[in-house]
Amino acid sequence: MKAISELIKTLTLEEKASLCQGADFWNTVAVPEKGVPAVRMSDGPHGVRKQTGETDHMGMNPSVPATCFPTAASIACSWDEELIYRIGQALGEECRQEGIDILLGPGANMKRSPLCGRNFEYFSEDPCLSSKMAKNYILGVQSQGVGTSLKHFAVNNQETRRMSVNAVVDERALREIYLASFEEAVREAKPWTIMAAYNKVNGAYCCENEHLLRDILRDEWGYEGVVVSDWGAANDQAAGIPAGFDLRMPFSGKRYIDELVAAVKSGRLDEALLDRTVERILTLVKKGLDGRKEGVRYDVQAHHALAVDAACESAVLVRNDGTLPLKKSAQIALIGRLARHMRYQGGGSSHIEPTILQNLPTVLDSQYPDVRYAYAPGYSLKRDGEDPEAAAEAVELAGKSDVIVYCMGLPYGWESEGADRTHMGIPANQVSLLKELHETGKKIVVLFFAGAPVEMPWIDCADAVLLLYTAGQGAAEAAVKLLFGEKNPCGKLAETWPLKLSHTPCALNYPQGETAVYEEGVYIGYRYYQKKELEPLFPFGYGLSYTTWKYENLTVSAPQFNGDSGDTLRVTVDVTNTGKLAGKEIVQLYIAPKAPKVSRPIRELRGFGKVFCQPGETKTLTFTLNKRSFAYYETRISDWYAESGEYEIEIGASAEDIRASATVRVESRPLPRTYDRYSTAGDMMESPVGQKIAAEMMASMMPQMPAEEKPAAGEDDIEDAPMEIGAMSMAMPLIKISDMTAGVLPVEAVDAIVARLNGGEE
Ligand code: BGC
Repeated sequence: MKAISELIKTLTLEEKASLCQGADFWNTVAVPEKGVPAVRMSDGPHGVRKQTGETDHMGMNPSVPATCFPTAASIACSWDEELIYRIGQALGEECRQEGIDILLGPGANMKRSPLCGRNFEYFSEDPCLSSKMAKNYILGVQSQGVGTSLKHFAVNNQETRRMSVNAVVDERALREIYLASFEEAVREAKPWTIMAAYNKVNGAYCCENEHLLRDILRDEWGYEGVVVSDWGAANDQAAGIPAGFDLRMPFSGKRYIDELVAAVKSGRLDEALLDRTVERILTLVKKGLDGRKEGVRYDVQAHHALAVDAACESAVLVRNDGTLPLKKSAQIALIGRLARHMRYQGGGSSHIEPTILQNLPTVLDSQYPDVRYAYAPGYSLKRDGEDPEAAAEAVELAGKSDVIVYCMGLPYGWESEGADRTHMGIPANQVSLLKELHETGKKIVVLFFAGAPVEMPWIDCADAVLLLYTAGQGAAEAAVKLLFGEKNPCGKLAETWPLKLSHTPCALNYPQGETAVYEEGVYIGYRYYQKKELEPLFPFGYGLSYTTWKYENLTVSAPQFNGDSGDTLRVTVDVTNTGKLAGKEIVQLYIAPKAPKVSRPIRELRGFGKVFCQPGETKTLTFTLNKRSFAYYETRISDWYAESGEYEIEIGASAEDIRASATVRVESRPLPRTYDRYSTAGDMMESPVGQKIAAEMMASMMPQMPAEEKPAAGEDDIEDAPMEIGAMSMAMPLIKISDMTAGVLPVEAVDAIVARLNGGEE
């Protein structure tokens, strides 16, 4: 390709406008006579969905087989940045083989409610974990010369009316939660494209949203890549382009080209802005071309092995009375239709045709010929009704076995793009069979498959529960390795599993219709459950192992931190494997402000690491903290602010299991403040000048008070006054003090006080 600036000069207005829309479902427009080729995109995120025949964005039409890696919900439980990087590399390689230039993923939306139909495609309820996983996915894919599309930007948290809902979210929650989940990935991994979501945020569609795209993404985060629409998400592109939007996908009609041309001709759209968008699109095309490699053939077996490994790393053991790991000599009753028809991914545009697909019986038969097991389906997946015959067969089988491995979970159709769940239950037939199995008195290991949390009122019927989530094509092999202890479970939950739907942060209003009001603000996930003191079923960051761990020797490089500086703090902690099996531990660092002046979560994740230790071995983890680690988004200064005060640095095995902590004192400049007549006495008392003024006022007002109101010598009337009076006066605006004291504090005096307060008098 020619130099892009030169190329743009040769393009007609119509050609430029046509480049701003797809040529078809997956390709950009080529202008061969000017030497502009097309690049091709494909879904994403956990595999390459290359369609060769009929195209669609709902995963209905067939696609070329590709490795189906664990979905984001699963892989996030690995908390393993290096692993997701390797998956990214593998995905990039598969794209290269299939001639795909840009892979549409990863998805970094927050899990606001467990009901969101697409949660299996997203990482977490926590932005720190989500953004780091997204970053490493992007770096991995792009290391292969293939682009990514970080999606769905932003605040796309319900599938109900996903194409039109207006998400109304306050600026703090937007910055601290919903955008923070994208921020590190954008700044540090520089995805070639970012996919703007369907929905509106605070009244403006994402593809035209000036605040999201121009103010934050482009101006603050410095993003220079292409902003592409979700498929069909663009509306008024002549308004979108000045806001920072670029490419409408897929091809949706020539009228959109005509509209852009007309907008330039009428002066509604500055051609220079159109040129800027075309420049970004051509830069993307050039990157795509430069990254192409002929003759790439990926190793199907090696990628499958990586998928199995990733599934092992992501599984979370949430209950175990010692029944796991199983002895290979045990006679096993393998029960539940999900053992054969495993749930390993979700429905919609991310649906992958796997290259290799095993289920539990095929793995046992082919790889564990000495293991004695028998299988009974037990329940139907097609309809949620009792099947007394199938259940009786399963119970009989259980009676003849040493241990039951019971497969439960959500059927495929229950979780999909385009629809939200309406409850957190599972099919009743699976639960009634569990109860019958429990009555046999045999030990029960539940293998659980789902893309999101469910209620488990039945959990006491299980002796062990291993969550597989939607673990991709390696799910069955991983499950067997974990059951027999060939692999030690080491995943931890990337989201809270609440006890019940009514406990969830937006239970009262999720999903909503035209307008979704994010009333819970920054309180999503564990931030909410902890603040409300709601005990979850399983907390964020929780997961068991076949070994045990000790945390000790927490060190912090300094007891104080300057919250206005670019300084960093170094934190280390030693972790020892105190059990008998080798294993991995995920160590989490939380920051807990001790007495914040603004409403803040009890603790927030600011770092994590995963270590492998042999029995008895100790490893040291190191974390680096900076201003942002302590900060919240302060809307009064439109910036991050690390308020002065004490903070606990907490090292946890989960958000509810803090094993070590240390206190750090943060010192920051006070917030700049402007006072007016309606500032309260309390506001005034927060400033040193205000305190001085108050003392002067007290002294000057005292002689004017009638004698009987004056405190007698030695009488401490302030302390004896009822609390409410103190609080009431502190809440009183200065001008009202003037009004209520009938001239004791004239309005001129109020104005003089305001001037002194604003003058920053020392
Ligand atoms: C989905 C995107 C997907 C696109 C293309 C849309 O419906 O929201 O995630 O990348 O279709 O299939």
